[in-house]
Amino acid sequence: MIVDYQTLYGEAPGGGEVGDRRVIGPAAIEFFACDTIACRVVTNGSHILDMGRQVCTATPAQLRALAIRDGGCVVPGRGRPPSWCDAHHLLPWVEGGLTNIDEMRLLCRPHHLMLHLGILQLE
Ligand SMILES: [Zn+2]
Ligand SMILES: [Zn+2]
Repeated sequence: MIVDYQTLYGEAPGGGEVGDRRVIGPAAIEFFACDTIACRVVTNGSHILDMGRQVCTATPAQLRALAIRDGGCVVPGRGRPPSWCDAHHLLPWVEGGLTNIDEMRLLCRPHHLMLHLGILQLE
């Protein structure tokens, strides 16, 4: 996903882009930012001026701990395994949500997307 800093942090309206330059809206931006590897790139037009280091939202050790605690998707039902799951931040990462185990839940990709689209809620 490529998104402007101001859009990512909700300081300006706008969209982002994924893969084949498809435009995505705020809910999809929040979804992709929830469990991701982020890298800051500063540009001046088409020239890259600076690239920051990559920041992972959940470390491999945290993902292992979440797999042990949650055992897979936390939404009751199909019981999708941890390897199919994302680490969801209860408070979105872009809103300052902490990447602490207590602040994250494992969700399979479909349930994770449904939650960010507002058609599913965690109890
Ligand atoms: Zn999420
Ligand atoms: Zn699920």
